[in-house]
Amino acid sequence: MTEKIAGKTIAEWQEEYPLLKAIVATEEVYWENNDYQPEALGDVVSREELDEAAALFDRFLPFFKKAFPEVDLPSEGIVSPLREIAGMKKELEAAEGVSIRGELWLKCDHELPIAGSIKARGGFYEILQYAEQLAIDHGMLAKSDDYSKLYGEPFKSFYSNYSIAVGSTGNLGLSIGIISAKIGFQVTVHMSQDAKQWKKDLLRSYGVTVVEHPADFSIAVEKGREMCRDDENCHFVDDEDSKNLFLGYTVAAKEVARQLEEEGVTVDAAHPLIVYLPCGVGGGPGGVAYGLKQVYGEHVHCLFAEPTHAPSMLLGLLTGLHHNVSVQDFGIDNITEADGLAVGRPSGFVAPILEQLIAGIYTVEDRELFKMLYQLYRSEGLFLEPSALAGMYGPAQVTDKRLFENLDQATHLVWSTGGNLVPEKDREAMIKKGKATL
Ligand SMILES: *Cc1c(COP(=O)(O)O)cnc(C)c1O
Repeated sequence: MTEKIAGKTIAEWQEEYPLLKAIVATEEVYWENNDYQPEALGDVVSREELDEAAALFDRFLPFFKKAFPEVDLPSEGIVSPLREIAGMKKELEAAEGVSIRGELWLKCDHELPIAGSIKARGGFYEILQYAEQLAIDHGMLAKSDDYSKLYGEPFKSFYSNYSIAVGSTGNLGLSIGIISAKIGFQVTVHMSQDAKQWKKDLLRSYGVTVVEHPADFSIAVEKGREMCRDDENCHFVDDEDSKNLFLGYTVAAKEVARQLEEEGVTVDAAHPLIVYLPCGVGGGPGGVAYGLKQVYGEHVHCLFAEPTHAPSMLLGLLTGLHHNVSVQDFGIDNITEADGLAVGRPSGFVAPILEQLIAGIYTVEDRELFKMLYQLYRSEGLFLEPSALAGMYGPAQVTDKRLFENLDQATHLVWSTGGNLVPEKDREAMIKKGKATL
């Protein structure tokens, strides 16, 4: 095969970047980002915008209470717990044969209310922002109002004139679908072939239209975009190119800062915070990383994690081609049990933002995800979906490779991205599969 990627053959690319050999062979790799600048931030989201995005979630708290009475909503709203996981630290140390320097914590976004995944942040934010703007533009709402009035008439009829569409591997569809249906929008979710059956069933139970595409994520997104294009009352949530999704994720940083302070955990030059984030298109982890840089500057270091069979952001950043390269271009199949990360091409909006923002990316095999799924379940009694364990692989590697200074006083923060909505039957099968790897 002599097909070229941006003018070069795969062999030529591999000569330029030797790590590509192992990446193409779907081996686990660690890529250190040589362009990383711990103090750099760029001008994508200002501190004011971050604060405003957080304030939007606060305004909608009365809406959530009224629309989801069955949900046990934390008093702060759409937030997740932060937990130290010392038992899991021992598991990892035993399994990897290293002693992890520093403390190990888990940011439990799998417990985010309603959507059960990190998509509750970006997805909810984009829909709520759109709904708020529409109502304000039509003179039906002021930001000082009690937003519980948005649930029910006359708003439901008003919003039914508008539609929402999104392409997804599963979790974004769940988050967008559920919140949009509650608001009253007509909503269509375009699912890629990776999407699990239970996610489609659950959405349909909310009255969401689910279109199944026998193709990968990029195609599902493209189809959704096309169907929305000619309809001015249709809002397409573009996971490959949306600032509002990104903004919603950045809000997590304020939450983490508040929680670490409450726990008495210091973050400064002598006490670095190292954060491990599973990456699909990059919006979720990118937004969180950006927000954390906004809050902690050079004292926080973010690492992204991808499956060995879907290293899309890694290829985008390493080659510098960003959205213009896919894992399939390099002969990688994008087939992984980590459905939330089964993405062949990174977000064109996010990839450039990450160039100097993240310290590196590592890849992890599916088998390891299941192993850690079981270890976490056994040691902490927590269940995560496979995608959500990709971050957990990092702390042992960082210690092993001595990547950062002052590791003895470091806080390792693994971002758990989803799992709470997984049905019992599927959980049992995954736990069993994880147990069999030991
Ligand atoms: C979507 C998702 C991610 C990654 O988010 P991206 O914005 O696609 O990078 C990670 N984990 C889970 C469980 C997800 O659903």
